[in-house]
Amino acid sequence: MTTPTIDGPAATRDLTGPALMRHAERAAELGRSVARTGAVTAKIPELAKVDAGAFGFSVATVEGTELGVGDSDVQFSLQSITKLFALVALLQIEPTAWEHVGWAPTELGYGSVTELERAAGRPRNPFVNAGALIVTDRLLRHTGSAVGRVSTLLRELSGDSATHSDAAVAASEAAADHRNRALAHVLAEHGRLLNPVEDVLGEYYAQCAITGSVLGLARGARFLADRRLHRLVLDSDNIRRINAVLLTSGMYGAAGDIAYRIGLPAKSGVGGGILAALPGVGTVCAWSPPLDLEGNSVGGVAALEHFARTSGWSVF
Ligand code: GLN
Repeated sequence: MTTPTIDGPAATRDLTGPALMRHAERAAELGRSVARTGAVTAKIPELAKVDAGAFGFSVATVEGTELGVGDSDVQFSLQSITKLFALVALLQIEPTAWEHVGWAPTELGYGSVTELERAAGRPRNPFVNAGALIVTDRLLRHTGSAVGRVSTLLRELSGDSATHSDAAVAASEAAADHRNRALAHVLAEHGRLLNPVEDVLGEYYAQCAITGSVLGLARGARFLADRRLHRLVLDSDNIRRINAVLLTSGMYGAAGDIAYRIGLPAKSGVGGGILAALPGVGTVCAWSPPLDLEGNSVGGVAALEHFARTSGWSVF
């Protein structure tokens, strides 16, 4: 757990474009100044080529304000942020899919084989890797291409035609990965996969390798906040559940710390992106590649904490 960087009372909520821009610019400045204390992921060698100094920040409100600071239209590797869109894609087809993935927080982080083993192969939630493998597996069975379905959904929601699955990143993870293989074999041993292990893993790596920009992501996730958009994407019950599970599990082992410091449902990825939503108000997204020990972007968390505090964005 890290010490909160902001002290003092939270601001009252201010939603005008210029005020949001001011908060976003200050948040980005603060995030950028601490980013270098983290380290770019070592799990996926191809991602080490990314500029560690890149920094993007964006906000989208339900009223239609959209703004970006820094590298806000640069494509980056979404990694675990795709788990959110994969879950949405699956729930669109199979609204009761929760029963296969659960919704409890993890105690041991996103890649724990121990936790999965102890639960007889039942994942904690759709955002730990074991749960995400189940989501990808079911989506593959329903559609024939999980990565195709998730990319299409993201392009539709974000309007970002540059979104694509980066084959070099997928191949790099496939070559270096042992943990997801272990998780997939535990799932298969317990009879929880519908497709062969190698097929599921191939789809999963390609899905994690999907790219997006912070501007596209903030726009693409607006359905989490905008009740008018809800029904075009998913039923309200499922949106409410997704927001709840993002708050308790979207940031892995750090979810409690993030709820305490930021107070927004959020999803991170080892590419350095973090996406957060304030139901009824809007979405906010940060990208900065260096990560902390939990696998969350150091600069992204700091920037979001500052933004949430100064703009008064919190569910509490
Ligand atoms: N592809 C990564 C993995 O499976 C995604 C993890 C993450 O972004 N937290 O380990």
